[in-house]
Amino acid sequence: MLRLALLLAIPPLAWAAEDAFLPLRLGEIQPEGWLRAQLARDVATGYLGHLDALLRDPKSKRLILAPENNDYVSRFNNRNVKLDAKGLAVPEPPQRWWDGEMIGDWHDGLIRTAFLTGDKRSRERADRFVAAILKSQDDDGYIGIYPKGFRFRFSGPDGELWTQRCVMLPLLAYHEFTGRADVLRAVERAVQLTIRQFDGHNYFDNAGQIGGGVSHGLMFVDVLEWLHRITGRQEYGLAAVRFYDDYSAAKNVKNADAQMPKLLDPKAPLGGHGPDIMGFLRIPLYSYYVTGKPSYRQAWENSMVKTVRGLGVGGSPLSGQGEEIKTAGQTPDMPYEFCSTFYLLHSLTWAVRKTGEPRHGDLLERTLFNAAQGARSPDGKTLTYYSADERLWVRQKPPEGTPNFRYIYSAATYPSCCHNSGARAYPYAVAAMWMRSRGADGDGLAAAVYGPSRVETKVKGVTVAVDEKTRYPFGYEIEFVVRPERAVEFPLRLRVPAWSGEPAVEAKGASVKRDARGFLTLTKMWKAGDKVVLKLKPSVQGMPAAAGKTAVTYGPLVFSLPVAEKAEITQRFPEAEAAGVAGFFGYQYDAADLAAARRPLKLAAKPGFGFSAAEERGADASYPWDRAALRLRGGLLGAGGKPEKVELLPMGATLLRRTCFEK
Ligand SMILES: [Zn+2]
Repeated sequence: MLRLALLLAIPPLAWAAEDAFLPLRLGEIQPEGWLRAQLARDVATGYLGHLDALLRDPKSKRLILAPENNDYVSRFNNRNVKLDAKGLAVPEPPQRWWDGEMIGDWHDGLIRTAFLTGDKRSRERADRFVAAILKSQDDDGYIGIYPKGFRFRFSGPDGELWTQRCVMLPLLAYHEFTGRADVLRAVERAVQLTIRQFDGHNYFDNAGQIGGGVSHGLMFVDVLEWLHRITGRQEYGLAAVRFYDDYSAAKNVKNADAQMPKLLDPKAPLGGHGPDIMGFLRIPLYSYYVTGKPSYRQAWENSMVKTVRGLGVGGSPLSGQGEEIKTAGQTPDMPYEFCSTFYLLHSLTWAVRKTGEPRHGDLLERTLFNAAQGARSPDGKTLTYYSADERLWVRQKPPEGTPNFRYIYSAATYPSCCHNSGARAYPYAVAAMWMRSRGADGDGLAAAVYGPSRVETKVKGVTVAVDEKTRYPFGYEIEFVVRPERAVEFPLRLRVPAWSGEPAVEAKGASVKRDARGFLTLTKMWKAGDKVVLKLKPSVQGMPAAAGKTAVTYGPLVFSLPVAEKAEITQRFPEAEAAGVAGFFGYQYDAADLAAARRPLKLAAKPGFGFSAAEERGADASYPWDRAALRLRGGLLGAGGKPEKVELLPMGATLLRRTCFEK
């Protein structure tokens, strides 16, 4: 009896299945080289650092991201919420939660960038935001956008769980960067209050929902997973699984394509709201790691197969004009929303670390360096809500096809979901570059995503720093300088991308092998100043594209033929300009010569299609996307097979472009 009581008192295992890698604490990985320069420029002179002065509510003209809204009591916005006959809260239309989403998500990008770059002005705004949110917390722990008496039980388009997620992620990020325990406590109190509300009550079966506010709420699991991981409290993991089960069982929920029965059916196509579905990918995966149930793992595996099948060559799911994933009738010029790109990136950061499989790092880089980078101006002053792998114009009213008012390179589009995703893409990727590995060979470090960076953390109780020096993805030699405080033995894992030939590795005295998942594993007694040089071996390759076409890749980069454009300024920000925030516009683009841009072009039937990689001597090492630091030189075949000399640029360094060709 005593024995049984003791057993019951022992908390259950934190994880039913072990994550291959764990994320490092935010701040332990710092961007260097071009990554640091780009983030610093984004915050100093890009839209990221100025969106609070640019983004206005189209009706009230209020500055949505101004500090007076920082208490998150856009609760002011919801003062007209009513109760129906059943006592359920009926919020006003979805715009009421949009504000909460925009405030939280932009601050998430700002806070991360502030700490990654040391930008003082952003750091002050981060401090002010967190102080205001903490001050707005009610006695019962509530942090959110609805007034007392109108919370948790809704009929109609609410955004309760979604906006809580949008504010708690920046709070948790701030907690990790600063070590402030009171911020973590505030989040835990708020989350525990929320969890209690939904025991035996299915949030997602809210009848009468329009828009995506309710289904977005499934991403509250992001907060639960983070808390589970850093506190070790399994109640968070179990609550996450319950939310996923509730979503899977809901009859009314919008964007239901990630429900378990649909994912378990390998033939059911993936559809629905791109950002939701791309974000939900990570939830069956996490549910598997919480419960160990193989059905969740199967749902996750199926979801990745379906996702990869629907991706454009840039690494974002091809979509219609209404943000919905389309897998039938795909063409290379189909658009995708930046939020789909970002939420896929975020899911892939979980995929790499939970499974330890290099392929997820490969896809993460493809999505980041192509679809994401290819939707922003290199200087960070504008981003387009919708982008496409191939496009001959960026126009709200295009010369052909359906008008779409979100087809514009703008410093601020309302709603700013995509601009906020743009603000988070690189900071989230930086956080995934290095991971803590564990397993039979003990604690170690894994380089999961490549780029210039510096990591400093404890391994086996010893402070270890590693400087990663590289021009990646514009150069494929990566030097790691390991600097432990004192000599320590641990495995250093390096991702070998599927596009690389067998890499060359120099590491004096290290034993080198591949682990079961494919990471190169270097083990030795590391001493300060030890060097590792990894030489990846890219080659010009063809990637299958929509409509039976082929795109040209080299390393993680997709290459496009740039199309000369003419620009038109179609959006101005006069109030911001009057307040001293000048130089921000919205631009639309046409091909300088549309007929010439459409001339027939084919890939040549030669090894590597006859292209070879060439470094651009005039490129600025700090800003390698401004003037592309790497090009493919060679030829395409014009009308009648007539060769034409061309230079292809990384998709991320082009504006109008042709990317997919007949062979
Ligand atoms: Zn968006």
